[in-house]
Amino acid sequence: MTDHPEAGPAVVATYRGGLPADSLGPTLTHEHLFVLSPELDRDYPHPEWDADVAVEQAVAGLEELYDLGIRTVVDLTVPGLGRDAGLVARVAARTRVNLVASTGWYADEVLPPYFRTHGPGRLVGGPDPVAALFRKDVVEGIGETGVRAGMLKVVTDEPGFTPDIERVMTAAAAVHVETGVPVTTHSNPHRRNGLDQARFLLERGVAPDHVVIGHSGDSEDLDYLLALLDTGVTLGMDRFGMAHTGSDEKRVGVVLALLDRGHADQLVLSHDSAYFSRVTPPSWRRVHTPEWTHDHLSRRVLPELLARGATQQDLDTMMIHNPARLLAPATGVST
Ligand SMILES: [Zn+2]
Repeated sequence: MTDHPEAGPAVVATYRGGLPADSLGPTLTHEHLFVLSPELDRDYPHPEWDADVAVEQAVAGLEELYDLGIRTVVDLTVPGLGRDAGLVARVAARTRVNLVASTGWYADEVLPPYFRTHGPGRLVGGPDPVAALFRKDVVEGIGETGVRAGMLKVVTDEPGFTPDIERVMTAAAAVHVETGVPVTTHSNPHRRNGLDQARFLLERGVAPDHVVIGHSGDSEDLDYLLALLDTGVTLGMDRFGMAHTGSDEKRVGVVLALLDRGHADQLVLSHDSAYFSRVTPPSWRRVHTPEWTHDHLSRRVLPELLARGATQQDLDTMMIHNPARLLAPATGVST
């Protein structure tokens, strides 16, 4: 089926409900609010974690971002990273910045044992709960929150396409084809595995202009990045300030090199930062990655790009138009 009766502007699911894609404004496409670990949080709490304090910090941070011109932030915290849509909803209700929730699974090798026994041909059987979870999050909403996911997130890293990773990627592709919701990946560009991800997703009917190969900005390998661009996907230059995976000097250089070659319409910029992450807690970040904050692009990187030859139009393309195109559900993909 390729006809879509719902004429009019494409609508993006956010914590405030559906918003027209062309109203999203400057958007950070790959961020986190709170990266948690529910079992550890319950039984071995992190000394720096206090949910009420974290909510206040996130509200204050997002309000500051709004004053810097950012209007929408995509929270790519999916299950496996301690997604808590109820907690994020408390933040969303108090900030002018639009927040977009996501679904998917953050694992680079195996899924939890529940998934091993559930699904067609498995011990307990039944329909595939991976796809069912993604579909529910996108169509009905996450948990009891009623917040619908506006992005699918998948991961491949060192272990490659293990059976469980293939299962996640297959489910994400299927739910994209059903709903048009875009797919963002966590890739390992040093393994050049964004190419495998792009091939896998595109072969399953995912619209290339609705795919972001995340963490591509960790690479300076232009041959690899240009080969990825040839597939039609968008590159996530999404870790500005994350000094332990690459310097901003290199990240800026690669963006400028790709802009020079006319690829503004396939780049998005973000930080992959968090207001709190158990993985790299605030005390560690303050020492090792002091600029790895959600305001870093607005305060330092975008002005530097402009000073070094990028045009305002390039920035608008990467910060406004590409995110709007990606987040507007793809039409005509359902079969
Ligand atoms: Zn991330």
